[in-house]
Amino acid sequence: MSETAVESVVIIGSGPAGWCAATYAARAQLQPLVYEGAITEENRMAGTLPLGQLALTSEVENYAGFPAGDLSSFLDSALPQDRRMMMAPHDGHGVTGPELMELMRQQAVNFGTRVITDDITRVDFSNCPFTLFPAGGGEVRARSVIVATGASANWLGLESETRFKNRGVSACAVCDGALPRFRNQELVVVGGGDSAVEEATYLTKFASRVHLIHRRDELRASKIMAKRALENDKVKVHFNTTLAEVLGDDQQGVTGVRLESTTEPDKETTLAAAGVFLAIGHTPNTAFLEGQLELTPKQYIVWQKHFRTATNVEGVFAAGDVADDYYRQAISAAGSGCMAALDAERWLAEQEG
Ligand SMILES: Cc1cc2nc3c(=O)[nH]c(=O)nc-3n(C[C@H](O)[C@H](O)[C@H](O)COP(=O)(O)OP(=O)(O)OC[C@H]3O[C@@H](n4cnc5c(N)ncnc54)[C@H](O)[C@@H]3O)c2cc1C
Repeated sequence: MSETAVESVVIIGSGPAGWCAATYAARAQLQPLVYEGAITEENRMAGTLPLGQLALTSEVENYAGFPAGDLSSFLDSALPQDRRMMMAPHDGHGVTGPELMELMRQQAVNFGTRVITDDITRVDFSNCPFTLFPAGGGEVRARSVIVATGASANWLGLESETRFKNRGVSACAVCDGALPRFRNQELVVVGGGDSAVEEATYLTKFASRVHLIHRRDELRASKIMAKRALENDKVKVHFNTTLAEVLGDDQQGVTGVRLESTTEPDKETTLAAAGVFLAIGHTPNTAFLEGQLELTPKQYIVWQKHFRTATNVEGVFAAGDVADDYYRQAISAAGSGCMAALDAERWLAEQEG
């Protein structure tokens, strides 16, 4: 009976963390194998198609090395024609999320990364080599694993919210708040925790006014954060209120919101607004780990040492938003992908003595 080949390093996930880890691992001659996720309706609905969260957005203005400019000929020369043809034409205003992710993927492939377009649905980390179970069947064995499966922003699930995503509806104020469409406009933030308060306060740099919509009668955010928002002249908090509908049209995108009271039935209000920012948390993509790694109460993977990507299982590393509920940026995810590849390389070298 033939033994299944054992991979040096398998990377699960295809956002900035996964591709950056792959590029480093490939350049270190580790022949990484990336499971980039499956193209399924379920993943489309969850926002977890291959290429990760950044593929869900339009322009990316804050990724280092990509100032605004016409990247058309660069994209044509850097990407293979079959993948380039599947993308929207470049509009000359700077790099888009899908373009940036295709470039990261290609950079990893150029150094010999092998890519399989499938999900890993289950893992067994009880013995090294570890065993991974792809959705398409069979199993993969690996001496080291980098988990870079990211996280998904939580949405309310309103039809109007989906309709205006990237046209005024966002789940990331730090990413999108500075875009011209939001400058000197009334904006809405939904949520009541630390993230919501932080996002509302951050948006006051650009907005004429920020409406914070919270379904309870007091903010869940820490006292100091809540105080900062409540004392900010530009922030108006609407307690006991939920977002019922995002209003807008095809030309302008978001033009306002319809709000409902949680305490007074039939009480509705509308507000004019150019943007709606959801800040109701993220869900890390860790369900497939099923108790194999230590997770935080919010299901993020726990990094065991300060500024290291090791998990509680030796030889298994984590990178990006799957272990980071704080920074949640493409560049920080890519940075920790680099760290995970270097950590895996050193760990493999130690095993070989
Ligand atoms: C709408 C939007 C706009 C944003 N804009 C910006 C911005 O302008 N600038 C910025 O810095 N950040 C931005 N962000 C945040 C940024 O996208 C994330 O911080 C970053 O993508 C996290 O990268 P990651 O590699 O950890 O994982 P992700 O990007 O989350 O990618 C992980 C991917 O791995 C794959 N995967 C998941 N589970 C499995 C599995 N079991 N098996 C195989 N594959 C799997 C899926 O394809 C998943 O999407 C934005 C986020 C959103 C949602």
